[in-house]
Amino acid sequence: MENDNIIISNNFGCDAETFETLIGVLPGFVYRCKNDADWTMLYISSQCSDITGYSPNDIIYNNKISFNEIISQEYRIYLHERWHGILKIRGVLKEEYKITTKGGKVKWVLEQGRGVFDSEGNLKYLDGYITDITSRKEAEDRLVQKNIELHLAKERAEESEKLKTAFLANLSHEIRTPMNAIMGFAEMLKENDLEITQRDSFIDIINRSGTHLLSIINDIIEMSKIESKLITPNYEEVDIDLLLDVVYKTMLATITNDKKLDLRYLSSDKQLEYKISTDPVKLRQIISNLISNSIKYTDDGYVEFWYEISESDKEKDIVFYVKDTGIGIDKAHQDEIFERFRRIDSDKQTIGRGGSGLGLAISKAYVEMLGGDIEVESEYGKGSLFKFSIPLIICAKNKKAKDTELLEKGFEMNNQMRILVAEDEDTNYLYLSALLSKCHHTVLRAVNGQEAVEIVKEDNNLDLVLMDIKMPILNGYDALRLIKKLKPALPVVAQTAYALSDDEQNIRAAGFDGYIAKPIMKNKLVSILESITKHL
Ligand code: ADP
Repeated sequence: MENDNIIISNNFGCDAETFETLIGVLPGFVYRCKNDADWTMLYISSQCSDITGYSPNDIIYNNKISFNEIISQEYRIYLHERWHGILKIRGVLKEEYKITTKGGKVKWVLEQGRGVFDSEGNLKYLDGYITDITSRKEAEDRLVQKNIELHLAKERAEESEKLKTAFLANLSHEIRTPMNAIMGFAEMLKENDLEITQRDSFIDIINRSGTHLLSIINDIIEMSKIESKLITPNYEEVDIDLLLDVVYKTMLATITNDKKLDLRYLSSDKQLEYKISTDPVKLRQIISNLISNSIKYTDDGYVEFWYEISESDKEKDIVFYVKDTGIGIDKAHQDEIFERFRRIDSDKQTIGRGGSGLGLAISKAYVEMLGGDIEVESEYGKGSLFKFSIPLIICAKNKKAKDTELLEKGFEMNNQMRILVAEDEDTNYLYLSALLSKCHHTVLRAVNGQEAVEIVKEDNNLDLVLMDIKMPILNGYDALRLIKKLKPALPVVAQTAYALSDDEQNIRAAGFDGYIAKPIMKNKLVSILESITKHL
C-alpha cells in the first residue's frame, strides 16, 4: 500500500502526505485499481469514506469488501462491459451509477477513469475519480417527475378542453332544439283554426321541451357545484319504499305515448322495517337519473327497478338496480359514460336522443359522496343493468309506518282540501289556483309572507299552505317559522324557482313539510300533495 502511494506521488514529484493534501481538496475520491472482477483497489483516497462509508483500508486489496460489491447490483455487469469497450479504444470512461454505502444508503456517483498502459501497450491499472452526485440526481428526478406531471396535466387539460368544446357544441344544439319547439309551437297556438287535439299536442310539446330545458340547466349548475366541491351529503332518516314509490309515480308521468314501455317498480319481498340514514335528495336524483336514462334509451320492452340488501363480512349495503331492454352500451364505452360531458358519439342512437352527457357523472359523484359505487352491465342492442350500492345505516329507533296506515292516510288525500297559496306573482298564483281548483280544492291567496301568517292565524280550517320562498315584506322562511309557532301541525310546502339539490336541502332544513320546484306540473303537484297527506 505504502509502495503504491509512493508510486503515484512520485509521478507528481511530491511525497504521500502532500499528495493526500492536494487530492483532499477534491469533492470526490481518486483511485487506482486492477482491471479484474473485483476492481481490486491498489490505492483509494481518504474521501471515499465520506461517500461510501468504508475507509480506504476496508477496500484496498478487497480487505473487507471489494469495490465491485459496493456498486449496486444492476450496474455491475454493465460497468465491466463499458470498461472493456473503453480500454479497447483507450478512451475515457464517464458513467453515472448507484452504489450502496456501508450504512445501506443508496447513492448516485459519477465515475471518470481511464486505463494506464506501459510503453509496450500492456494495461497496468485503471486510474479514476468518483464523486457523489446524489443531490443532483434527486433534483433531476424531481424535475423529470414534475415534467411527467406537467405533461399529464397538459394532456388532461387538453382532453377536458376538447370535451368542453364538444359539450358546448352539443349544449347549443340541446338548448336550441327545445327552444325552437317552444317558440315555434307557441306561435302556432295563436292560429284560430286549430283543432282541439292539435292544440293539446302542441301544448304537450311545449311542456316537454320546457321540462327538458330545465333539466339541462339544472344539470349544468349541479355539475359545476360538484366540481367546486360545494355539495356535501345531508343525512336524514328516510323511508326507502316511500321514496321509491314517489320516484315511480314521478317517472311514470314522464313516459310519452309513443313509447311502448312498461315501467315497473319491483317492490322488495324483504322490505326494510326501519328507516335508513342517507341523503334522500341525492338518492332520489341518482335513481331518477338512471330511470330517466333507461326510459330515454329504450323504445319498447320494459324498465324496472328494485333494491336488495347485500350482506358481507364487513358491512351491509343497500343495492339499487335499474334494468332496461333498451339500446345497450358496448363494452368499449362502459367506463367512459360515467365521465362528465361524455356521450357515445359513435352511436347514432345516442345522438338522436338528446342529452348533455352529465347525468351519469352527477349520479356517480353522488353515489361516491354517499360512500358507494356505481357500475353497469350491458350488452349492445339488448339492454343495460345499472347497479349502485350505498352503506346501509339503519335507524333502529324509527320503525316505518305500516302500509295499511299509509293506505288509510292516502285515502284522505282524495278529500277536498282548503289550501292557502302564498305567492306574490300573479301568473304563478293564477296557474296554481287553476290547477288546485280543478282538483276541487278550495284555494286562498296571500301576496306575501306577512299576509300568509295573518290568514293562518284567522283561518282554523286550513289543510295546507303552499309557500313561495322569495316574497316581499316577509319571505317564505320567516313566514314558515311564524306559522309553525302558531300551528305546528299545519303542513307547509315550499314552492320555489330555485330547484337545485342544496336548495332543497336548505328548504328541508328550515322545516318545510315538502318542496316543489317551479315550474309546477300537475303530476308533480299531485304526487307531492299525496306524499304530504300520507305523512299527516
Ligand atoms: P346523457 O345526457 O347523454 O344521457 P348521461 O351522462 O346520462 O348523459 O349518459 C351518458 C351516455 O351513456 C349517454 O349519452 C348514452 O350514450 C349512455 N347511456 C346512459 N344510460 C344508458 C342506457 N340506459 N342505455 C343505453 N345507453 C345509456
